[in-house]
Amino acid sequence: MLSPAQKSFLLIALRVTLIAGVVGGIAALAGGESIGVLFVALVLLVAFSYYAWKLAQLFHWLEDPQAATLPDAGGMWGDVLGKLYRLIKQERVSQKSLSDALSRFQQAAAALPDGALMLDNQNNIVWLNPVAELHWGISLANDRMQTVTYFIRYPEFIAYLDQRNYGEPLALKVSRKDAAGQAHESSLAVQLVPFGEDQMLLLSRDVSERERLETMRRDFVANVSHELRTPITVMAGFLETVTSIGEGNPELMKKSLAHMTTQAQRMQRLVEDLLTLSRLEDNSHRPAQAPINVPELIASLAIDGGQLSAGRHRIATHIAPQWLLGNRDEIASAFSNLISNAVRYTPAGGEIDITWTMEGLEPVFRVRDNGEGIAPEHVPRLTERFYRVDRGRSQATGGTGLGLAIVKHVLIRHSARLDIRSSRDSAQHGTQFSIFFPAERACAAEPRPHAVAA
Ligand code: ADP
Repeated sequence: MLSPAQKSFLLIALRVTLIAGVVGGIAALAGGESIGVLFVALVLLVAFSYYAWKLAQLFHWLEDPQAATLPDAGGMWGDVLGKLYRLIKQERVSQKSLSDALSRFQQAAAALPDGALMLDNQNNIVWLNPVAELHWGISLANDRMQTVTYFIRYPEFIAYLDQRNYGEPLALKVSRKDAAGQAHESSLAVQLVPFGEDQMLLLSRDVSERERLETMRRDFVANVSHELRTPITVMAGFLETVTSIGEGNPELMKKSLAHMTTQAQRMQRLVEDLLTLSRLEDNSHRPAQAPINVPELIASLAIDGGQLSAGRHRIATHIAPQWLLGNRDEIASAFSNLISNAVRYTPAGGEIDITWTMEGLEPVFRVRDNGEGIAPEHVPRLTERFYRVDRGRSQATGGTGLGLAIVKHVLIRHSARLDIRSSRDSAQHGTQFSIFFPAERACAAEPRPHAVAA
């Protein structure tokens, strides 16, 4: 059985031979044998030229199938061109689906929260996603096909790469510079994953935030345990004394009970402050916001401050009749912490000014004292939990070390900011805490019920 291609070839050969035979025969009859041979040669030459021309057209079209139009031909040429055309079309479709798949893969890899960097069998960089560019300071556009160890030079990484046992991820501290040339330290969890023929994927995840939170959690637990251990140890000591010799010594019993009460109160304050902080940090629960009668609130907090001072300070207030939109309990807690700090850290005879004013469109609460002030290096850390300049002084005056952390969280929830100015200059010492509320929180006083009735 002949194939369609062989059939087409035979048909053409037959056709050319027939035409050449007929034309050559007629020419031989008319002009003799040599004329007949000449005509046969002529027919063969025309046939050859025709097929050579078709071949040239095909060649031209194959050079750039997109630009040139498909040559028009029938018979065997038509079949050949048709087959070629279908092949090229198929090729184009598969090329497009390949490039679509590649661009989908690149989009997915670019959206990954982790860094992904592809290495060939020579440890050259084949490809990396934008997160990996950021983690390693490598640019896909400029650094492709460069050896990875040229950029990632940490000895631990080179050892990890060489050991060829990538079961466990590598914890790496890296330092990178931002656009402004500022160096930043971060912690990366790095894992090499072999794939394909001796290729590797280098995955990297920034775990700095996780580590920071873990350190914070550990410090917090250590701090709370430490804060609770002191009063508990003191109470245990007194209980032991009372149990052994207290009954026969009413005076000692009385003193011990007073000390134990002080320690119990200290623990109570600590637990209350911890609960307040955890409520403030819980962003899923936002308490209701309403207009607060701040002038009335400050007047009452100033009275509490006076009681805490017990006449040891002069407390002055300057209160504008401005109301504020917010949560009353939280604002009261922030203001009262600043007032009680001023009383507690200002020696007897000192002066404390409490003001509530409008500065431009912003409502501002300010507490200023002329105590001994705070050294500048402590100021940025004052709102950290349990940060104290003088631990003994804080505890002696009933401090928990959480007051300013509470203030900070209340302000975050009210989009307000805290400004701390302090001076230890002997001529003008003292501290000033100012809370600036955003203008949108200033609100009109609510009409009193009887005013509404009128
Ligand atoms: P504490 O319960 O120890 O007072 P805070 O968080 O309220 O904790 O304050 C943190 C530290 O800031 C205090 O221990 C104290 O050292 C310092 N501080 C706060 N307010 C004042 C102030 N008005 N004058 C001097 N130091 C202050």
